[in-house]
Amino acid sequence: MKPMPVEHPPIAVVDLDGVLADVRHRLHHIDGASKDWDAFFAGIPDDPPLAEGLAVVERLLADGHEIVFVTGRPERTRGDTERWLARHRLPRARVLMRRDGDRRPARQVKRAIVRRLATDRTVAVVVDDDPAVCDALEADGRAVYRADWMDRAGPLHRAQEGDGTT
Ligand SMILES: [Mg+2]
Repeated sequence: MKPMPVEHPPIAVVDLDGVLADVRHRLHHIDGASKDWDAFFAGIPDDPPLAEGLAVVERLLADGHEIVFVTGRPERTRGDTERWLARHRLPRARVLMRRDGDRRPARQVKRAIVRRLATDRTVAVVVDDDPAVCDALEADGRAVYRADWMDRAGPLHRAQEGDGTT
């Protein structure tokens, strides 16, 4: 008998910042004219998880997708990033990151990463919160799920998630 061809599951590409991780507490480091990227990335361990993003990952897994995390964070943050993912019980999955020193806009970096992934695999969906990234990937023909929940996840929202009352 001929061996069966190996069937790979479809890939779901999932962004981190603004999709799974609430980065708002550290945005002030890069708001002004002088951007302190080191301080911005140093706050990664303290990011609260975004419940809606975690639920999306669970649903994608249940639907048989392989998750691949694709982030504009630089490689030098890999240790903190992987520890954060493990702490919040996200699946062990590939984490594809920006090369250190790569200063291209996220839309270019991610477009290149996703194109590379799609050369020998099916990329079924991309979940991202950056409109410029979403636009670029849609222009490549990708199915995009635009994450819009970080701005809604305020203290009230978190309180409601916590005890079911307002
Ligand atoms: Mg993002």
